[in-house]
Formats: sequence, structure tokens, C-alpha cells
Amino acid sequence: MTEPLGKSRDMRVFERCESEVRSYCRSFPTKFHRASGYTMWDVDDNAYIDFFAGAGALNYGHNPPEMKDRLMRYLADDGVAHTLDMASEAKEAFLSSFEETILKPRELNYKVMFPGPTGTNSVESALKLARKATGRQTVMSFTNAFHGMTLGALAVTGNKFKRGGAGVPLHHAVSMPYDGYMGPDVNTLDYIESYLKDSGSGISLPAAAIVETLQGEGGINVASDKWLKGLADICKRYGMLLIVDDVQMGCGRTGTFFSFERCGIVPDIVCLSKSIGGYGLPMALTLIKPELDLWKPGEHNGTFRGNNLAFITAAEALNFWKTTRFAEEIADKSRFLRERLTDLVRKFTDFEGEARGLGMMQGIAFEPGIADRISRMAFERGLIMETSGTDGEVIKIMPPLTIDKDGLNRGLNVLEECLVEISKETDAVLAR
Ligand SMILES: *Cc1c(COP(=O)(O)O)cnc(C)c1O
Repeated sequence: MTEPLGKSRDMRVFERCESEVRSYCRSFPTKFHRASGYTMWDVDDNAYIDFFAGAGALNYGHNPPEMKDRLMRYLADDGVAHTLDMASEAKEAFLSSFEETILKPRELNYKVMFPGPTGTNSVESALKLARKATGRQTVMSFTNAFHGMTLGALAVTGNKFKRGGAGVPLHHAVSMPYDGYMGPDVNTLDYIESYLKDSGSGISLPAAAIVETLQGEGGINVASDKWLKGLADICKRYGMLLIVDDVQMGCGRTGTFFSFERCGIVPDIVCLSKSIGGYGLPMALTLIKPELDLWKPGEHNGTFRGNNLAFITAAEALNFWKTTRFAEEIADKSRFLRERLTDLVRKFTDFEGEARGLGMMQGIAFEPGIADRISRMAFERGLIMETSGTDGEVIKIMPPLTIDKDGLNRGLNVLEECLVEISKETDAVLAR
């Protein structure tokens, strides 16, 4: 790519007008105007391969053509855009398809709640319902968890910097070690259970445990099937609800529609958002076992629970799941991704990297400092790739699930170029 100067790098209005809170525009400092599939273009027409996919909101890629057509027809016909939670044809179509395509084939029986349209809204509704259903106040969460930015969700989030933003004490949550947190030889479930069974532990029985099956923001930490099953068992034995936050890992990111399908657990409550709308439009769902659907009408409310434009694209997106083909394609690309990452780790042993992840949510963990440099360098070479982990020590590869192998390969070649570049610099420093 040529030196990317020009209009796209003029950030003056954002610096002047937009709050200091802005973040991704700092990591990827250009102005975008167009996108298709796994490619984004800035206003100077520089192309970027997107390995970030809207943090998981674009699993089907940018402007997927079938969804765009449906949406454009709906708009042209004056389809109702906003309905609060009134019944609409678009919502009916989505619910029927969700029941037929997703729930029934998996023998899952959930009531569907529409909270406000973001992930944190879904998490808040889940926490509220768990407390209401059990009469208990505390919720168990896990080290390095990420559940959103509103106060309830922040209380069950691990990151110190994010928690600090609350400005008030974050109560009624207890953080326990995630799978692997205490090293490979410790089963953290034993540690957790020792607290639950001991009346002297100082911890009152929690209403629920909220868990990500794979921690995306927390550094690509994968919980094993065995650990997840064990956690489900503990929840049952201590009368706690199991909440799976599938906001980022759901909708196929780890290879199956729900991330927990791999271990056969059935959570009491499931949070979904990000890619459920299909097109990157705001939408969220909270799935609730019928016997736990204890809400009174309107008890948990919100203005933007009837985003019909999202219902239209969400229903269309479910067509990807009508056959097993999409899941097979994801599995194939996931294997390819894993092989390339393992190769890179072997080739660049000096970095002591570690390949991590599952499905199309993979990455490499490095010593602090390296991942950030790779991310910046990759951006200058036309690849959008974020970091994750408490210290941003992991490069995170999460392209749209629809990316083809050529796109995946080209993105990974950029990553390899960055590693070559950085190791050259390191060698130069050592030679001096
Ligand atoms: C992104 C995310 C959230 C929060 O979703 P928002 O839409 O940003 O509020 C919650 N949980 C997980 C696991 C997420 O990745």
C-alpha cells in the first residue's frame, strides 16, 4: 500500500467534536466510506481486509447481498421501522424462523425476550431475572470476563480499567477463576466449589453464574468442554442459574450457532446480540427457559426493542443455518486458520507466541507490547486486526465467517509480514 496520506487521514472534526472516549478510530485511524464482504475502503480508496468484523457484529460480512436486498425492498415498501414491542410482520417472521431453524433442530425450548438492542442490555436483563427467580443477590462471574459497560454488567466484568469507570462500588458479584486461570494443573471448579459448600467461606450462594464459553475480550481463553459441563453441574447442585453470555461467541463464531453446543450443556438463560441482527443493525435477545419466564408485562422495558429493520435482516441471516453447509465451511476455514497460526508460532520462536482459540475466533498471545505493534503495522498494510487480553497481549483474528480462503490467506500473509518486520528490528537491536 502506498503512503496513506490524503483525505482519509484527516481526523480534525473527530478530534475537535468527539469525546475523548472514542477508541477504535485511534487504533484504525482512517475514514471509511464503503464496505463489502470482508473488505472495507477508506475515502482514499485504500482497501482493508477486515479481521475484526465489528467485534463480532458482522459474522455474515459487510452488506451481505441477500440481506441488503430484503432491507431495501422493505424500506421501499414503507415497512414499519419502529414498533416498540408491538407485534409486527417482521418480528413474526423472525420469531417463526428462529423457532424452526435454530431452536427446534437443537431441541432447545426457550422463550425469547427482546431487551434493549445491545449486548449489555441483554446481560442486564439476564442478571435481573436470575435475581428475581432465585431471590438471591450475588452473581458469580469469572476472571477476565467481559459482559458490557452498564453497571450490572460491569460488576461481573473483570477488567480493572473498565470497572474503574463505574464511579460507584460494583456490588453483588463475586469473581471466581476461569478455566486455566490457576495454571494447567488446577481444576478451578474444585476451588469454586470449596467456597460454595463451606458456610464459613464468606460467600453467600449466588443467584447465577454468568460465563463466556470462550473469552474473546479477555484474551481468547477457551473453557474446556469438561469444565463447562462441571460448571453446569455445580449450578444445578447449588440452585444457581447458568447464564451463557453468547453475545460475541454466538451466531457461529466458534463453529456452531450457539457456542455451548460443543459441550452439550443447556443454559438457563442465553444472551445474544452482536451478529443476531445479521447486518450489523442493533438487536439483542435474551433466551429464557419457560419455567423461568417470571416477568410481569412491562417489568423490563425499553424503547428500541422493536427494530424491524434488524428483524428483517436477522430473519434472512437465519437462512445461513437452514442446512449444515455453513457450519462445515466454518469448520474448514477454522482448521486452515489454526494451521497457519501454529506455523507462524513455530516459525517465529523468538516471540514465544501461543496460538489460541476456537472456530473463527483465534489469535496468538505474545509478551506484552508485541501485539499492539503488530496491530498498528498490519493496519498500515491494509489489515484490520484488534488485540485483546488485559494488557492487549493477544492479537485477535475474527474475520467475517463468510470470508473465503483467499481473503483469509491474504490477511494472514500480512500478519506474517509484520512478524518478519518486527523480528528484523529485534535482530538489529540485538546486533548493536
Ligand atoms: C460485546 C459484548 C458485550 C456487550 O455488548 P454491547 O453491545 O457492546 O453492549 C457483552 N458480552 C460480551 C461477551 C461481548 O463480547
